[in-house]
Amino acid sequence: MDGPTRMGAADRGEDFVDEGPRGFFGMIGSRIGKPRADAAPNLHTREALLLLQNYEESGRGWFWSTDAKGRLTYISDSVARLMGRTSEDLLGTCFTELFLPADTHGERQRTLPFLLTKQSQFDELPLRSAFEGDDRWWAISGRPQFDDGGKFAGYRGSGADVTAQRRSAEDASRLALYDSLTGLANRFNISKKLDSTLAAFAQQHRSCAIMLLDLDRFKQVNDTLGHPAGDALLKQVAERLLKIVGDKEMVSRLGGDEFQIILPDIEDRGKLGDMAADIINSLSQPYSVEGSRCIIGASVGVAIAPFDGQGSGDLVRNADLALYAAKGNGRGRFAFYSSDLHQAAEDRRALEDDLRDALARGEIALAYQPVVNAKSNMVTGVEALIRWTRSDRGAISPALFIPIAEEANLIWPLGEWVLKKACEDAASWPGDMRVAVNVSPIQFANPELPKVVAKALAASGLSPDRLELEITESVFLGDTAETNRMFKALKALGVRLALDDFGTGYSSLGYLQSAPFDKIKIDQSFVRGATEPGSRNSAIIAAIVALAEALDMETTAEGIESLDQLDLIRKLNVSHVQGYIYSKPVPNAELVEHSIAGSWTIKPSGPARQRNDRFSMFRKVTAIHDNHRYAVVIRNLSATGAFIEGILDVPIGTRFVIDFGEGQLVTATVRRSTKHQQGIEFEQTMVSDGNGGLCTRHRVSPYLIAAAAQQTSELALPAFTTTSDWKPA
Ligand code: C2E
Ligand code: MG
Ligand code: MG
Repeated sequence: MDGPTRMGAADRGEDFVDEGPRGFFGMIGSRIGKPRADAAPNLHTREALLLLQNYEESGRGWFWSTDAKGRLTYISDSVARLMGRTSEDLLGTCFTELFLPADTHGERQRTLPFLLTKQSQFDELPLRSAFEGDDRWWAISGRPQFDDGGKFAGYRGSGADVTAQRRSAEDASRLALYDSLTGLANRFNISKKLDSTLAAFAQQHRSCAIMLLDLDRFKQVNDTLGHPAGDALLKQVAERLLKIVGDKEMVSRLGGDEFQIILPDIEDRGKLGDMAADIINSLSQPYSVEGSRCIIGASVGVAIAPFDGQGSGDLVRNADLALYAAKGNGRGRFAFYSSDLHQAAEDRRALEDDLRDALARGEIALAYQPVVNAKSNMVTGVEALIRWTRSDRGAISPALFIPIAEEANLIWPLGEWVLKKACEDAASWPGDMRVAVNVSPIQFANPELPKVVAKALAASGLSPDRLELEITESVFLGDTAETNRMFKALKALGVRLALDDFGTGYSSLGYLQSAPFDKIKIDQSFVRGATEPGSRNSAIIAAIVALAEALDMETTAEGIESLDQLDLIRKLNVSHVQGYIYSKPVPNAELVEHSIAGSWTIKPSGPARQRNDRFSMFRKVTAIHDNHRYAVVIRNLSATGAFIEGILDVPIGTRFVIDFGEGQLVTATVRRSTKHQQGIEFEQTMVSDGNGGLCTRHRVSPYLIAAAAQQTSELALPAFTTTSDWKPA
């Protein structure tokens, strides 16, 4: 703005500032005082105007005035410039056009046009600039002006830039609702959202699923690569989650490495299972964090309202229980909530308690499984496998209790005992058979491991080259330098190293180049896959074998059970085999007996082909026919059908509703029938429960069950005789 315009108002002798805003402007206002008759600016006024000009130019505030129609008659040049205009451009413009209408930025305040038409005074009204590229916020104050006759003459007022305050207030509210690291909703935010969603949905009888997600081995990354790396990893996890879930507002980080997802209007367990599997798969792909490659996994627990709980408290608790089960089942899995998980969780806790002093009670032992040369059938070594026989409940699988031991910090004493015992046993064997010992990644991450190994060797007198340590790929997840140091320290002891379970994790052939392995053990699942038509596993195994030979490593195929698998493995030139086709793990005494005669060869024996896995479990369910309920046992459950036992002489074509409990109903038709057993086919296929079991895709809503219970049903007479009623003639 140029001088003359600015002077114009004062020249006209108007009371430019009668009740200015607080601060400097107010001070000048009181000095300028009321309009004077002579209208000529005296020294005071001129001084005041200069001060005003300085003030305007300092950018701390600006002034405006309008005529009775709301058109600008004055605006500080400084603000016009900020709006990308000159004050002259703006004169005559409607004052309200400088700002976005209130509703576009969600202000619940009286709008500016409303206040202006009412000719009300207003103070520090927050308004957002309407000029493109200028997202400033202004606090605008204004006073209506009246002429001597009391007629409204327009407004005078001031404005100040409050963008910074506004932003920090927004940041503060964002902080209260969003996780600052990932930008996802925080725990507070998501729990409010879940509360309100469930409350609204309960009235409308709609369903809503939640997933709780926990990263596997995140702690390991955090501990070995450092917290900044852990943070960077979490950000990438959040991005991957958003890609799958889509709705940003429904994904939240609860804290640490725990996430929660709300999925409104989904109850289909087929869909939810697919989504959970997608999430797990996506999060398990390698990450690049600060130049290091790292791999983590994820476990997911799913609970669905109203089936698994109607309030958020119950639903979250049950999803948590499902998550606990998913982790307990070996991680990298999902699980749906079901009421029997309460018992399972209790059992697991009891197991953990018992495990604490299983060693002291003498319940832990070792079994040895022969590793056989695939060509000569000669036993070259054995693998030590831990066995736990719980006094009252029999044998517990290491696949079940090793993860528990790892989580409960019991793996270290157990591992130390295994090393000591295996070395001791091996030192007492007649020949020079090797012994392989499994080393948990948690043991591997402990710098004390080489000392413990050295101690076991020294105490037993076993030659170090007869001890082989089996390590899984997950040891490569952490700090590479640390991992390499551990490899060096172990090799320096003279022991052998084997890469266990190859093909189950994120098998990178890169490891083989850098890590000093003497052997690769190809996992059972990989070999089994190879016998399936169309599988590329054979080609991959051939490549691994070629690479291993080039690097002077042995190969062992694990879990070979059938002759067709053995044939394949031999064709692919895998050098060693370990599996039931040669021998199950045996106690030390039996091993000594076999090897006492000198060299030990085993003739392979087993089924010609691998049998398909079938769910041959028994389960008690209810078969409903004509309003009558029959207790039956279900066998050989598959996604599409099963056998039922418990009813006699059921004609082919009979339709039942099978009640698996907890609202899981399936209609089924009898396709085959003998006196005692019926083969039934389901009309709706069942879906995976994430843990090798099956569940129904949909469930009958508790709302429906409640409604049905109110209708009294007629009691039908049973159409069939049950096994328990039947008496042989
Ligand atoms: P792993 O090291 O891969 O051991 C091989 C597993 O496959 C053993 O199961 C063995 O009994 C089983 N197996 C061998 N041949 C066959 C076969 O032909 N068919 C089938 N179906 N299975 C076969 P096990 O003894 O139950 O051990 C499971 C896992 O527990 C082991 O897998 C290993 O990861 C872990 N584990 C066992 N002992 C120890 C130990 O002392 N320390 C640690 N840290 N882990 C151990
Ligand atoms: Mg092993
Ligand atoms: Mg293995």
